[in-house]
Amino acid sequence: MLGIGRTGWIEKNTPECGPLDALVKPLAVSPCTSDIHTVWEGAIGDRHDMILGHEAVGEVVSVGSLVRDFKPGDRVLVPAITPDWGSLEAEAGFSMHSGGMLAGWKFSNFKDGVFAECFMVNEADANLALLPDGVDIASAVMLSDMVPTGFHGAELARVQYGESVCVIGIGPVGLMSVAASALRGAGRIFAVGSRPRCVDAAKQYGATDIINYRDGSISEQIAALTGGRGVDKVIVAGGDNDTFIDAVKICAPGGIIGNVNYLGSGDYVKIPRVEWGCGMGHKTIAGGLMPGGRLRMERLVSLLKYGRLDTSILLTHRFDGFSHIEDALFLMRDKPRDLIKPVVMIESD
Ligand code: NDP
Ligand code: ZN
Repeated sequence: MLGIGRTGWIEKNTPECGPLDALVKPLAVSPCTSDIHTVWEGAIGDRHDMILGHEAVGEVVSVGSLVRDFKPGDRVLVPAITPDWGSLEAEAGFSMHSGGMLAGWKFSNFKDGVFAECFMVNEADANLALLPDGVDIASAVMLSDMVPTGFHGAELARVQYGESVCVIGIGPVGLMSVAASALRGAGRIFAVGSRPRCVDAAKQYGATDIINYRDGSISEQIAALTGGRGVDKVIVAGGDNDTFIDAVKICAPGGIIGNVNYLGSGDYVKIPRVEWGCGMGHKTIAGGLMPGGRLRMERLVSLLKYGRLDTSILLTHRFDGFSHIEDALFLMRDKPRDLIKPVVMIESD
């Protein structure tokens, strides 16, 4: 990112690596919708000559003197969020906000990202995850951000066995919320989206009902399908501030709305007063940035390793070679209708 609205290639020095950190070279990377918000919407403010990217699988090049568990040559999953684990926020259980709200998101935000020949991972022992042999590299890149974010939506909504869930937005993040809801034992799962490729994927991940938000209001469609009752849990992974109007309407009393969507404009989120029970409806709204951390990442890896989750369904576009990172980024910006996620395999350069 050269500046807001401008991208290009730049030369930089190899990043500094402290005693707890590791230098990693990418084996595969993927651009995120957040990279698009960052460059073309100026979502995190002006940034100059900042390397983008926060989704990668890589190989450790070197480690700091205090790193115990990783060594050069190890294949690793690199999470999008790499907190400071010694912070008070981490002690409180919210490591993603270490150093300030959302500040656990460092790559392509406060420091250079992973679209580079080499990048630095802070606190390697706490933030990296070993990738066992036999786990496909391209599939594993989806564990950096798409899987933990989508899964966090289901965690925020506290999806339980047999509950009805509505996932609003079925891009890669929402699709992983559908998959997480199914893994957590949800009964009926409504998926809201319009693109046929995403709709097909949602069905594969366990959606029982599809709602096309372009065909009319989400809340009216859900009301018609549930006899006016609504759903136990709502996960928001797409839409905008107005989407909360529908989310609150379809959430049954006592329900929870888990938001992982980035709300990029407007000063306020809209909560409809009457449907929120005039403030007394016991409808909880929770929103969160994905948690990082080695423990969580290695658990997610095990879902791939033991065949519980197939992220290859997300990978609609594949590029071979470092130089194609730019093509993948532009593809993510332009979002052709058949795109779910692109992946760039670096090693084949
Ligand atoms: P996509 O753009 O790929 O998907 C968005 C989805 O929302 C699509 O299914 C789209 O439908 C649907 N949608 C669009 N408009 C509406 C609407 N008005 N009502 C209902 N649904 C709508 O995004 P991603 O899956 O890549 O990312 C989702 C969000 O998650 C982004 O805002 C991203 O920035 C954020 N994010 C958050 C993170 C976190 O830690 N909390 C981390 C990573 C990403 P259609 O089929 O028509 O395209
Ligand atoms: Zn992201």
